[in-house]
Amino acid sequence: MESAYSIANAEMEKIRRDNAELLRKREAEVREKAPEFAEIEAELSRCGIALSRCFIDGGIDLETIKNNIRTARAKKAKILKNLGLPENYLDEIFSCKKCRDTGFDENGHRCECLKKLISKNICTNSNLTGIMRQQTFNNFDLKLFENQPDINGHSVAEIIQRAMKKAISFSENFEDTKRNIYMYGDAGTGKTYMSSCIANRVLERGFTVYYQSAFKMLDILEKLKFGRYDDDEQAQAEYTVKYIYDVDLLIIDDVGTEFITAYSTAALFDIINSRLTEEKSTIISSNLSPTKITDLYGTRLASRIMGSYEPMRFVGRDLRRMKKD
Ligand SMILES: [Zn+2]
Repeated sequence: MESAYSIANAEMEKIRRDNAELLRKREAEVREKAPEFAEIEAELSRCGIALSRCFIDGGIDLETIKNNIRTARAKKAKILKNLGLPENYLDEIFSCKKCRDTGFDENGHRCECLKKLISKNICTNSNLTGIMRQQTFNNFDLKLFENQPDINGHSVAEIIQRAMKKAISFSENFEDTKRNIYMYGDAGTGKTYMSSCIANRVLERGFTVYYQSAFKMLDILEKLKFGRYDDDEQAQAEYTVKYIYDVDLLIIDDVGTEFITAYSTAALFDIINSRLTEEKSTIISSNLSPTKITDLYGTRLASRIMGSYEPMRFVGRDLRRMKKD
């Protein structure tokens, strides 16, 4: 995956090209319908040259040139009118009049049209499903966690509410704090939902996010490493892997459900370790308690996670099963 910014810039460039192409077609159309138009174009271009010479050498009658331009323009307007075409038919075409398709306003700030393109690409690259895009802090239903047996004297709703507070602060201070979260707990206790809430808020704030299950992520890495992709797939997989390392927020879901091999453990370690070194935030979610991580992956990976990730525990009943019942 290319960066959302460079994709947006390429799209902007395409808009400019398409508009220039459209203008060329319109000119050809008018030339075809009104052969005298070619002579007017030639006259206007002669006037242009004369005008610039006038600035350099002086001596040529500026008023005459201006008159000639006016006459040629009037003829051009008349041709368009006779053909039943709007008077601005041959003007330069801009999809965004505000920035004239440059993507930037007069102060050099990104124009709304470019921002829209970037955010569209950021969301497409995030790999969140349509359902996950709806899972936001605003839609989070704490009532689901009520009326469950307490855990060590704390209500489930209280524990989840605390987790949510932490998740909100993670999202709102995302750029400053470079935190990492290790979400753990049984299946269906809300880990993926909470990571979607964070992902959506971080995306909304203009950062890049990539969500992927550990199973799929390691499958991509392994197929790439052992040359199991055809050419097209390989190019896509290479983008994805680069994105896994570079994205502002990486969410690895369901760690522990992938095929655990010496290769997958080393690959996972490399991702986690590189991102820590580069100070890029990562969220890991897993059914495994932190101690189980040591058993499965060894102390090297476990100490990275325990040393640099904040634990976020999920408790309670399986919400997916509750909804079905
Ligand atoms: Zn614009």
